[in-house]
Amino acid sequence: MTFKKWMVTTSLVSSVLLLNACGQTSEEEPSPDETAQEEVNQNEESQTTEEPDDEDQIENDEDSNGSNASDNEDGEPSDSVDNGRPQLDLEEDVLEPASFSVLVNKQYSLPEDYVPDNLVTVEVPTVLPNPEIKQMRQVAADALKEMFDTAETSGIILHARSGYRSYQTQVQLFNNYVNNHGEEAANKYSARPGESEHQTGLVMDVTSESVGLQLTEEFGNTEEGTWVRDNAHEFGFIIRYLEGKEDITGYVFEPWHIRYLGPELATDVYESGLSYEEYLIDRGINIEI
Ligand SMILES: [Zn+2]
Repeated sequence: MTFKKWMVTTSLVSSVLLLNACGQTSEEEPSPDETAQEEVNQNEESQTTEEPDDEDQIENDEDSNGSNASDNEDGEPSDSVDNGRPQLDLEEDVLEPASFSVLVNKQYSLPEDYVPDNLVTVEVPTVLPNPEIKQMRQVAADALKEMFDTAETSGIILHARSGYRSYQTQVQLFNNYVNNHGEEAANKYSARPGESEHQTGLVMDVTSESVGLQLTEEFGNTEEGTWVRDNAHEFGFIIRYLEGKEDITGYVFEPWHIRYLGPELATDVYESGLSYEEYLIDRGINIEI
């Protein structure tokens, strides 16, 4: 069997430093104190920066997670026979901005002119006043509401903090960082426009009153964060930046950042124990990390 190799055309010269994928949020938060605190957090997190490991590390991680390498030994991830896993055209979709399975990270950025269709305001409790970030694509907004409502039946009260983030907003954030800290620091610590997964309209940062409605790693230890970790996939979301996968994803552990992939794919990714990047590689998709 043949495997059509494809080359990445969108690879950018990008920082490999770890940073908080959701932290560039000063536009959402007019308070200079909050902004400053987030920047402090980013800098602190960046101190733990490591260079991404090579593919050997990925393979090791996959092995440790019990992945079945034989799934893709024929090199055809979209083959109709794939041990019951989701039938996906991942090979094409990971580079299609409007696809639910699009890959967005520091190597694969979204185009400047990409604005998702069907952005709607989420119908769940929100934290911040900025109308832009209360938006998600319709299907993701519906799934989010279903997830929040289901959580509430178990006494779990979730809050939505930051969803859609436009390219232009990302430009403003980057420029703000340059103005405040200089271009060199911005290049090291601030995400470049187009690199935020929030631009897909498929992402929401969720939090709880138990962590003061903030985006903090502590959320992962709360009852609410644990519930999200264990149940989000059933509604089509994954925790995008896993603990221990920093070298792969390029971001620190973010138990609050959930990414919509659809229930079938999200469940498969969840059950794999892999980061989305690793999962795609495991499915035979030739991505660069
Ligand atoms: Zn986020």
